Amino acid sequence: MDLSHPLDPFFFIPIDGLRFLGFECVIGIFASLIISIASSVFLFLNPSCSSCDLIMSTWLSLIATLRLVDLPIKAKVIYKIYTLSKRINHEDRRFMIRRLMDLVRSPLYFSQSVLNGFSFVVVVLGMMKMAVGGSSCEDQHFYQFCSSVIMTFAVRLVVGAANFKYEERKVMNRGMGEFHQFYKHGATLHEIEKVRLVEVNKENLGRLKDLCAICTEEFKEKDMVRMLGCSDSHNFHQDCIDRWLIQKDACPLCGVSIRTGRAK
Ligand SMILES: [Zn+2]
Ligand SMILES: [Zn+2]
Repeated sequence: MDLSHPLDPFFFIPIDGLRFLGFECVIGIFASLIISIASSVFLFLNPSCSSCDLIMSTWLSLIATLRLVDLPIKAKVIYKIYTLSKRINHEDRRFMIRRLMDLVRSPLYFSQSVLNGFSFVVVVLGMMKMAVGGSSCEDQHFYQFCSSVIMTFAVRLVVGAANFKYEERKVMNRGMGEFHQFYKHGATLHEIEKVRLVEVNKENLGRLKDLCAICTEEFKEKDMVRMLGCSDSHNFHQDCIDRWLIQKDACPLCGVSIRTGRAK
């Protein structure tokens, strides 16, 4: 697949993907900020409501805590998206898409998704409680406040869903599915970075007398070479082998996986 031409439909995938994730995280962090700060302030200023309606005030504290925990995680994801977007104009798009996919599959991103899912369940439970029994608190403001927290959550979900439909569909239309096929058997960049990398110099040039089997050129001083370790001679230029490994996680000569050390 030739990915070098800016007119090919995959050209925009990293841009669209980053825009989609970035927007999603920014509205998420705004909603979390509003909900956590407003709820904490409300509970602090109205301590009597807590004794009056124990269930809903516990619910409110739980929501405030969950959204507070969400803030540093989202901030970290936004920072990662920001650093990725700075690479966008000068990095090979294959690596860019791989980095994007690695981010979406990282424990960091997963933890914010789990937190969002859990908050969603808690909000729905609070909503059901409000719908069935209202609030036992005498203070009318407490009922209104809980309702507005639920409303803020609902608005955030609607905006998120609209963004998802708009950007995600655009990305999908441009062939994200095909990219999943393309990278399905590939290694992550983290895994690739763990493979031994050496710079060719006078001392090790003797040991690297074979050609790089991918570009069929001889190694020369100052070349960066990855030594896969499956055999003494299975060494390749970093640029040559990294492009290979993001598509297939095994040695191109003997098929030994860089992940498992076993032949595929
Ligand atoms: Zn090469
Ligand atoms: Zn090999």
